[in-house]
Amino acid sequence: MFYPYLGTETMNNQIITVVGGGSAGWMTANLLHNQLHQHGFTIRVIESPSIGIIGVGEGSTPQLKVFFDMLGIAEQTWMPRCDATFKHGIRFNGWTDLVHPQYDHYFHPFPSNQDHNSGRYFLQQVHTMLAGYPAMPHPDLYFLTATLAQQNKTPAHEHPELQTNYGYHFDSAKLGQFLKTHGTQQGIQVITTTIDSIQHQANTIVSVTDEQGQIFNSDWFFDCTGFGGKLIQEALGTDFIHYTDNLFNDRAVAIPTRREEQELPQTTATALPCGWAWRIPLTSRIGNGYVYSSQYCTADEAEHVLRQHLNIDDKIPARHLSMKVGRLAQHWVGNTIAVGLAQGFIEPLEATALHLVQETVTQFIGAFTAGRFTTIYKEQFNDNINARFEGIRDYIVAHYACNQLTHARMSQKYASSNSRFHFDGKAVTIDTPRYWEDCREKVVTSENLQAVLACWERGGDLHQLLVDRKMQTYYPTLSWYTLLAGYRRFTHQQYQDNLQTQQIQAKLVELTQHFTC
Ligand SMILES: Cc1cc2nc3c(=O)[nH]c(=O)nc-3n(C[C@H](O)[C@H](O)[C@H](O)COP(=O)(O)OP(=O)(O)OC[C@H]3O[C@@H](n4cnc5c(N)ncnc54)[C@H](O)[C@@H]3O)c2cc1C
Repeated sequence: MFYPYLGTETMNNQIITVVGGGSAGWMTANLLHNQLHQHGFTIRVIESPSIGIIGVGEGSTPQLKVFFDMLGIAEQTWMPRCDATFKHGIRFNGWTDLVHPQYDHYFHPFPSNQDHNSGRYFLQQVHTMLAGYPAMPHPDLYFLTATLAQQNKTPAHEHPELQTNYGYHFDSAKLGQFLKTHGTQQGIQVITTTIDSIQHQANTIVSVTDEQGQIFNSDWFFDCTGFGGKLIQEALGTDFIHYTDNLFNDRAVAIPTRREEQELPQTTATALPCGWAWRIPLTSRIGNGYVYSSQYCTADEAEHVLRQHLNIDDKIPARHLSMKVGRLAQHWVGNTIAVGLAQGFIEPLEATALHLVQETVTQFIGAFTAGRFTTIYKEQFNDNINARFEGIRDYIVAHYACNQLTHARMSQKYASSNSRFHFDGKAVTIDTPRYWEDCREKVVTSENLQAVLACWERGGDLHQLLVDRKMQTYYPTLSWYTLLAGYRRFTHQQYQDNLQTQQIQAKLVELTQHFTC
């Protein structure tokens, strides 16, 4: 995102209208107000009283800390009001078919400065293994945040020298409300009404009109209306590129449960017969859900499997959701910019949606101010956002392409041969189709991802490849190594403990003593 800075002009009384008051709309409005109000822009949010928000999306990347820091909002202020907890990374449970309990999971940590030496040793272990010798390339052993999560420790704010990267879990509805309150206190205008029609001349939106016929003119529009994309898709007809061939999951079912006594500061992603389940601990409850493919199982089957996985009956109601997975061909068209679900969605495995919201708005502000509040950097902006979508998509596709699960293992675990369950008064047959095999064999992988996998297999310089292809911008080298080693993508499986790994583990455990529970 490098837009040359050209000037500091002020625009007189230009209006930016954000249509949509979900997390994307309120994050967008707050960022725009924070950065553009000083240049003479007034920010206005229009949100519908009758169209709800999606109401899921409870995990973040470390980028969310940057967002709150930018707005000058302390963790002590926003976290308690959003039932928020800390997140050191994501534990992937059962995505390999290997039965050894130590190896059927791995942790994708948010790497930190503390990992320089241990991370280097991890890479050496990987390359030893790739060269055909025994080694110990289990990623969980080499990262401070992985150890912190296991030990149930929170980030060490009182020791800046031990600063780690971390994300958050939060109640998404409360986050939206918090940002609305904050934004309106700062001077963002809010109008509660439902937009019915859009008036535009070619690619330029002139006004939007609500159900009562009230017309809202504006200089710029942000479409944050969710999956429908009322402005950019419905009115302007911008093309949508589906990721259906790359990512099979298109549905989710969510059921909250009570918080348990000891909850680790991590998201857990557990493989299920036709997708995976998230477990997100908040201070008030646990967010759970099953993300699955409707080509392979019905909504009833998915709900049943999730209840079985959570070991709960049908007293707590479930929410069923559809996901439109893919992205717009262009996110900035004329005077309209799409943000959030309106611009696209990559399935939630790595909790990147709000990260993309923040990135889109921050990049827009960079391009807009550098271009003296014109559209001159629009194409560059669109290329950057598209590259980011593809980069994140490739990393998520890698999880599916590298899984080692089989139909047999899943049948054994979730539906012993031909079992029938009675759910919601209906008989539901649960059989596990070849979902995981199909993910491995049929997902379309990009040229970049193919190059990564080929480089890994020949034991090549993966870091250089990621740098050359600019893939490192989206996921760092250590994340790629963690993923590929986490799925045990080796031609032999001779794991061998060694003294240096033990010393690294001991050192990491010692470091965790400076952190509180
Ligand atoms: C199963 C699942 C899990 C997810 N997990 C994560 C996660 O862990 N981390 C993460 O970062 N993201 C996650 N996401 C994505 C996350 O939920 C969304 O990115 C985020 O909530 C932003 O949504 P949004 O604001 O774009 O849309 P919505 O929440 O749908 O909000 C749309 C807004 O537009 C308004 N609106 C719509 N039409 C009109 C109209 N005609 N007139 C006026 N207003 C209108 C609505 O009233 C609403 O306020 C997940 C998504 C799904 C489906």
